Amino acid sequence: MENSWSHKEAKRCKDNPLALRVYSSQLLGREPDLVLHGGGNTSVKTTVRNFFGEEEMILYIKGSGWDLGTIEAAGFAPVKLDILKRMAQLKKLSDSAMVKGQRAAMIDPNAPTPSVEAILHAIIPYAFVDHTHADSVVTITNTLDGERRIREVYGDRVLIVPYVMPGFILARKIYEMTRDLDWSKYDGMILLNHGIFTFADTARKSYAQMIRLVSMAEDYLKRRGAVVKIKKQKSQVDLLTLAAIRWAVARHKGSALLASLKILDKAVSFSNLRNIDSIATRGPLTPDHVIRTKPTPVILKENPVEDIQRFVEKYKKYFKQYAHGQWTMLDPAPRWAVWPGHGLISFGANVQDVQIVSDITDHTIKAIQQAEILGGWKVLSEKDIFEMEYWELEQAKLKKGGKTPLFQGKVALVTGAASGIGKACVLSLHAKGAVVVALDINREVERIFTQKGIVPTVCDVTKKDQIRKAIEAMIQRFGGLDIVVSNAGIFLASENIAQIKTATWEKSLQVNLSSHQLLLQCAIPYLELGLDPTVIVIGSKNVPAPGPGVAAYSVAKAGLTQLARVAALELAPKGIRVNVVHPNQVFDTAIWTPEVLQKRAEHYGISVAEYKTNNLLKVEITSQDVAEMVCALAGPVFLKTTGAQIPIDGGNDRVV
Ligand code: ZN
Repeated sequence: MENSWSHKEAKRCKDNPLALRVYSSQLLGREPDLVLHGGGNTSVKTTVRNFFGEEEMILYIKGSGWDLGTIEAAGFAPVKLDILKRMAQLKKLSDSAMVKGQRAAMIDPNAPTPSVEAILHAIIPYAFVDHTHADSVVTITNTLDGERRIREVYGDRVLIVPYVMPGFILARKIYEMTRDLDWSKYDGMILLNHGIFTFADTARKSYAQMIRLVSMAEDYLKRRGAVVKIKKQKSQVDLLTLAAIRWAVARHKGSALLASLKILDKAVSFSNLRNIDSIATRGPLTPDHVIRTKPTPVILKENPVEDIQRFVEKYKKYFKQYAHGQWTMLDPAPRWAVWPGHGLISFGANVQDVQIVSDITDHTIKAIQQAEILGGWKVLSEKDIFEMEYWELEQAKLKKGGKTPLFQGKVALVTGAASGIGKACVLSLHAKGAVVVALDINREVERIFTQKGIVPTVCDVTKKDQIRKAIEAMIQRFGGLDIVVSNAGIFLASENIAQIKTATWEKSLQVNLSSHQLLLQCAIPYLELGLDPTVIVIGSKNVPAPGPGVAAYSVAKAGLTQLARVAALELAPKGIRVNVVHPNQVFDTAIWTPEVLQKRAEHYGISVAEYKTNNLLKVEITSQDVAEMVCALAGPVFLKTTGAQIPIDGGNDRVV
């Protein structure tokens, strides 16, 4: 592992201990082989003058909820060192009392809650303390004779601590182990099945020590041939089964979720290992991963849906065995799956969660294979893993964040997404928690949507193979399809029937009608496996109240409405709802150029302003109004409505 310390960068910290602490914490946090997603913690001890003018020793410790890679000074909680040291002398202390006590000992009540390892950091008599869950170190300890191997790597230069629960129990154990210790004899501390600590008087030394010790573990793995060789592997992609897997996992979880299939060589080759049933189900790489990944993945075989059912039953048993009637069971659904021949699946409520699971499993599968080469992957007992999974302080990490968004875990597809109603639908569905695949023939779509959770895709919806490809990419990435907003449309120049050019007529039918049938045809097999699946077709006020001069448009939209009605009939037995919205003209779409607008207004002999609000309520309808209606139709209020045509037109005397 490379030492990334830069004297130039460090110089900017001007010898300020907290600034240096921030700098080297970020260096550690940016190395995924050291810490992943909020793992690890760091601290610095320094004197601070209080407002009475007295000097106090303060431990600045990583606040919970902060990530080392992006931490700032505000992410460190300032806690009175003497109080933490006195807490270490207590024989017993519950973790919740410990957290309360630590918060009460902070000199800034607005700082984040100190890491649960604050006491442990306090009793290490060095200014800078670094703690990571380095893959290489943990991998070596997660073997049949891990402790012996650690001795082989480090000799007597590290203090070896057998596994105990993090928090007060761990701090107390280390307090007892080190009361009469000559710390200068040690370069670091290895926590079996957990991680590594280094310490020094300067940020640079403590960091360098971490890199040096971790590199020694990496070299050891190399020397022992514990290098994972990945062969080229082809995934047997089976997207319909993937959608069925997502459906089954969501049912057990009790809420919608994403299921992302990873078909990289390393994923497929892991899934194909001969003894996968055994090695993949022994437990997580480090115990704190359990809140993200559950103790084990589900292994999918001939009948994935039944395999998931079996996983759930096993989880319930595991819970019953260790909970002793004390806890409330978390949802029993798996968080990742090993699918031999296909790859790995990561489940999560949103893109961020899926990414976390995916990153953790990447590191886990590598460690498992390395440890197997070293003679056998061995992790903590099931009981230890359970205690971590149901540890109140770990659970608190997951509970953060407010209300669950309406469409969290849902997958939506919107056509004609680059402007107007389509664009507004993409943004509204995304704002309400859905991941959205945004199709448009206009390449601009890729520039318009750069948010996480929106996948802009250039697609000509009049070409079936392009639609199919877009949907297949979506299923592989998110595992399913729940909401289709069939919106793509064009409004061609006004022409009376006697003058309509054949090209105008055909183009309108192709885009405004036929393309929607192609989309439905490609989407239906996946919608059948969707979660509260629904199709929303964007019709037009022109359907119930046509005007002269736009036959090509009106006829296609009328046909589209009829298509939706038949779809409602055909798809109801599968639980798929199909509804139509008939918007009045929205003038913020690409098709309403000032010229078109002027021409239509002139046609009726009124001003453009009058034309825009030409309805009973005298209001202008915007793309956003339509998008809100689409979201309502996709949501719970309309869960029992299908085949409906909803006007959003300010009221029209030819319709009411
Ligand atoms: Zn730790």
